[in-house]
Amino acid sequence: MLQKFNAKTQRRKEKKSVLNKESRKKGIVVHVEPDEETLTLHGLQELIERMYSSKDEARGVDGTFMWLMEEIGELAAALREGSPEELAAEFADVLAWLATIANVAGVDLQQAVLDKYGRGCPGCGAMTCRCDVSEKP
Ligand SMILES: [Zn+2]
Repeated sequence: MLQKFNAKTQRRKEKKSVLNKESRKKGIVVHVEPDEETLTLHGLQELIERMYSSKDEARGVDGTFMWLMEEIGELAAALREGSPEELAAEFADVLAWLATIANVAGVDLQQAVLDKYGRGCPGCGAMTCRCDVSEKP
């Protein structure tokens, strides 16, 4: 099973490297489907943009924010009484809608997270937070 998985992963890597090499030569950006090894916050935002950018631009930040709130409500319900599959799907929906709003608002989520949390807790600066429990972080 693991061997089969590794072979599949290796084929994906080879396919990607060929696509990337070709695209670099031609100066073309090639979108490769993200997988468990390559999905980053940049990749998530790009994926969402490819799928929904025209709808998202029409809806704007305010309309998109309302959908995020609806998904957060669905996540709350799944945390209380959802199956593990429903719970995972609701987390994915919330993250996708957050990426959508970031796209519409022009925020680079990956850079924002690195800037704010990449060097430690924004409150105390430690990688393992030492803030007082009464404080937010
Ligand atoms: Zn802290």
